[in-house]
Amino acid sequence: MKVINGKYQLSGGVDPLDLVAKYEAPIYVYDAAIIKRQYDKLVSAFTVPKLKLNYACKALNNINILKYMKSLGAGLDTVSVQEVQLGLKAGFAPQEIIYTPNCVGLDELEQAKDLGVKINIDNLSILEQFGHLYPDYPVCVRINPHILAGGNTKISVGHIDSKFGISFHQVPHILRIAKANNMKIEGLHMHTGSDILDAEVFLQGAEILFGLASHFDELEYLDFGSGFKVSYKDDGIETDIKSLGKKISKRFNEFCKSEGKDLTLIFEPGKYLVSEAGYFFVRANVVKQTTSTVFVGVDSGLNHLIRPMFYDAYHKIVNVSKCSGRERIYTVVGYICETDTFGVNRKMHEITEEDILGFYNAGAYCFTVSSNYNSRYRPAEVLVIDGKDYLISKRETLEDLVRNQVQLDIF
Ligand SMILES: *Cc1c(COP(=O)(O)O)cnc(C)c1O
Repeated sequence: MKVINGKYQLSGGVDPLDLVAKYEAPIYVYDAAIIKRQYDKLVSAFTVPKLKLNYACKALNNINILKYMKSLGAGLDTVSVQEVQLGLKAGFAPQEIIYTPNCVGLDELEQAKDLGVKINIDNLSILEQFGHLYPDYPVCVRINPHILAGGNTKISVGHIDSKFGISFHQVPHILRIAKANNMKIEGLHMHTGSDILDAEVFLQGAEILFGLASHFDELEYLDFGSGFKVSYKDDGIETDIKSLGKKISKRFNEFCKSEGKDLTLIFEPGKYLVSEAGYFFVRANVVKQTTSTVFVGVDSGLNHLIRPMFYDAYHKIVNVSKCSGRERIYTVVGYICETDTFGVNRKMHEITEEDILGFYNAGAYCFTVSSNYNSRYRPAEVLVIDGKDYLISKRETLEDLVRNQVQLDIF
């Protein structure tokens, strides 16, 4: 979203204030052109014969977004059977979906097997049980490379203390289980965290996977997970995808050649594809001057966008109603009856009550992590594509809040 001719505009010249007028605030808006831009950027960074991007749909799971990803050529990375089912509903073929759960029971893996999707197993106990029962069903294994990577401790998942993956020191045991059951290990996977800036971390992980891959004769793919950092501030700091793509591609191609293997290189980006495509528009309800601060209280809260309170995420916020004139410093807070802070000390064009504020980077882990806390409705979602806007999920109603409640008649 940029200021053009004195007002904020989305791709195709769409005016966010028109969307707010049409659908009311608060709303999530996704700009398809940005999803495509990010997808193309990633695809063009790699020069390997076989590349597949599996969109990690926990980031944003509206079925229209899934269909759009499919139209771009993506596969799907899922972490629950429900996500698998959503993917199938969106039209992905079972083998275009990989199921990468953590700490689920054997029964959920069996459901995934029955649906025919690719399965990624992340502990030895389940690998062994699955192998005894279904030796003919090929699987991928998730390796923990013991690398500390990611933007902060809550989103680092590939280190030695992490619950994810099978330690790379335990590969001999993986091989023993596979051999004893006559299983086919078709893929090796790692995913070390989110918001990883340093390309060297990826390369380190890649080297570990390459080192292990030569032990697996029937391998078809290597999946390096995701965690690419996107830009949250005007400084534009993000993972240098071009340079990363070049380095990984070179090593990958060398490896395939020296081992005589014809592997597919897989990544499973979530945030990279959708974070910047999403905007969240809210209305300023009150401007409240206290002894130390000017607060702007908006018609939303951590129920709709929990990332700032959950892991200190930074979302750029602008006054969409006013993009010129005097600026002031504000602390933007939500209406939830808890400390509910979106941003502290933000310089914005002077806010009048009822102005519309816009949050950037609201595509990934925003709507999908939203809740009904304080008995509030989840907002509507709108997709902007080719200059047109489409409602892709309706704002909730009181009916939705009580739908699954069972009213007893004993009182
Ligand atoms: C969450 C997740 C991803 C996506 O991570 P991003 O940081 O959003 O790119 C990829 N793979 C797995 C297994 C995940 O759990």
